[in-house]
Amino acid sequence: MTEKVRTRFAPSPTGFMHIGNLRTGLYAYLYAKKNGGTFILRIEDTDQERKVDGAVEMVYRTLSTAGIVYDEGPDKDGGYGPYIQTERMGLYKQYAEELVRLGGAYYCFCDKERLESLKDENGVHTYDKHCRNLSKEEVEKRLAAGEPYVIRQKVPEGVVSEYEDMVFGKISVDSADIEDGVLLKSDGLPTYNFANVVDDHLMGITHVIRGTEYLSSTPKYNLIYDAFGWERPKYMHLPPIMKDATRKLSKRFGDANFEDFISKGYLPEAIVNYIALLGWCPKDNREKMTMQEMIEAFDTDGISKSSSIFDEQKMRWLNGEYLKAMTPEEFYIVAEPFIDKAIGGAPWDKKELASLMQTRVDVLCDIGEKLAFLNEFGAYDLNMYVHQKMKVDFSVAKQAVKVAICALETFDDWTDEGIKERIRQAAEEAGMKAGQVMFSMRVALTGAPVTPGGAIEMAKVLGKDESLRRLKFSLDLLESAN
Ligand code: GLU
Repeated sequence: MTEKVRTRFAPSPTGFMHIGNLRTGLYAYLYAKKNGGTFILRIEDTDQERKVDGAVEMVYRTLSTAGIVYDEGPDKDGGYGPYIQTERMGLYKQYAEELVRLGGAYYCFCDKERLESLKDENGVHTYDKHCRNLSKEEVEKRLAAGEPYVIRQKVPEGVVSEYEDMVFGKISVDSADIEDGVLLKSDGLPTYNFANVVDDHLMGITHVIRGTEYLSSTPKYNLIYDAFGWERPKYMHLPPIMKDATRKLSKRFGDANFEDFISKGYLPEAIVNYIALLGWCPKDNREKMTMQEMIEAFDTDGISKSSSIFDEQKMRWLNGEYLKAMTPEEFYIVAEPFIDKAIGGAPWDKKELASLMQTRVDVLCDIGEKLAFLNEFGAYDLNMYVHQKMKVDFSVAKQAVKVAICALETFDDWTDEGIKERIRQAAEEAGMKAGQVMFSMRVALTGAPVTPGGAIEMAKVLGKDESLRRLKFSLDLLESAN
């Protein structure tokens, strides 16, 4: 029987979660689910100095909003816990000491000054293995005397450490290029290098899925597995997501924060769908996919070795497709807060506004700008009335607005069809083209160069009283211009 797949997402709570971090979690989730396996959340918070308040809660919130459901994690015990590194502290020391006994690590008593003296002109030091061959007696003596120490990896000499990455293929590093790095610090806390190995092993992780920044350190981690006599997991390293051709997305610069996109009015499903495609392509090149469809289609062959560029325009487009595919009721639920903000308590018909907006915005935050014409109406640039192709100038516009006022003043069937027919007839009677009247009427109703609909839709949304008030105001403007 093949072993059950177990993958993990191991974020460090050092800030918000950008799209690249989330994609790593998503792929680990998709891979586990595709293979009927278990997906685990582990919080890697050993670096207390970089820890940011609230970041752990943000991880939970983000995964839950994104629909990435872990089977085991800090609040879902699956028998492999604790799932928060700071709650596992006792373990690392014990395993580091065990590794010393097994010959894969050693005590190092070198002090700061000595390490400083090893630095090259760039300030980088490579440990010179000074304590690697201390006798057992000397080590015991110094430990008993309470000397501060770290535990370092005893990298075997003269070997090439190799593994087969599921994305990048064979990766090999000569042990001569691997430093005897610190596994356990003098404060008894592990380094990432050690903790990730111990945790992945104890949590039964079969497939380690993470960013390429760990691609070339992995041979070093594998030597730790070997020294313990533990089975190595398989690895899938993912190329970075770039902000542009030269820069990676970065937490530090506030790039592509998942929660920012949510508050701008992107749908979580659309973001998750978009980021799945940043570095992976299903066999049939489909773009719009539900989580379930992604799980079914996910395959390692489709993962790209090269980095991808985060393209917000593409994500906007995809989000627009999700909005259009919603039922009017579903759209209303997500759009209402943005409509409320746009109309600021004015008594417009919100259901009607939502139906006007559904096919016209790609991201919900665009609603504010699109509906600005509702609350902002006043003197405007009359040049908007000039349209050569339609043969509209100030005097045609004036006539058109008069025709519209006359036609609508005594008219009560305030439906799209009703208004349209009425304007069409009135234009004909006045010997004008319906297009000329509608064009002028749209400007007169909104005073805006671009509106989220034509004259009829604008009149419908504004209602009869407000439409007539605006048409009359515009007629005055046109008349006073001459
Ligand atoms: N805590 C590490 C990070 O956020 C995780 C690396 C890993 O997945 O092993 O980069």
